[in-house]
Amino acid sequence: MLNLVLFGPPGAGKGTQALLLAQTFNLVHLSTGDLLRQEIAAKTDLGRIADEIISKGELVPDSIVISMIESKLKEPKTTVGFIFDGFPRTVPQAEALDELLARHQRKVSAMLCLDVVKEELIGRLLKRGLTSGRCDDMNAETIENRINVYNEKTAPIINYYEKQGKYYPIYGIGTVEEIAENLKQTVENI
Ligand code: UDP
Ligand code: MG
Repeated sequence: MLNLVLFGPPGAGKGTQALLLAQTFNLVHLSTGDLLRQEIAAKTDLGRIADEIISKGELVPDSIVISMIESKLKEPKTTVGFIFDGFPRTVPQAEALDELLARHQRKVSAMLCLDVVKEELIGRLLKRGLTSGRCDDMNAETIENRINVYNEKTAPIINYYEKQGKYYPIYGIGTVEEIAENLKQTVENI
């Protein structure tokens, strides 16, 4: 059973690499960002709440994202494992993920952290904003806030997994193929 957390700041390449890792290792890809954007598109009550928070670059409350993940883990699946993309985003979310997985006799195998410097992140996000239609990618102020929120609330998760011996930093600048290969080799050597 392989359960991977793909970690890194906004614009680090998690979505792209998560899809490739999911294919390589036959994992189910779970992106809380994508799930929230589906709620927004469907104009649900949750979507309305999420939209306001996301457009400011803030974090959706722990209870909401945790229960989204909980319901996904409950769906019956014959999978070798999951890849979590963009979740957990706070230490309480990381703790909750451990508890949820334990209930299903699973655990996090590794946390792969894509390292990319801030200047590169801002450039990538602004570029993505031109085509993605994501309002949180178009506004420089929102992008700046997302990176600050990452540093304050999300980056402390590194220490959480490091203490468990599950933290694997990966250099995140290069071609998509190069980074995918590094990730693959890291996972094969866990
Ligand atoms: N978000 C959140 N919790 C999550 C996932 C996403 O609060 O678990 C919100 C947050 O506002 C974030 C936005 O959704 O800035 C986009 O998240 P996503 O992971 O798609 O963006 P990325 O960080 O990959 O650029
Ligand atoms: Mg993403």
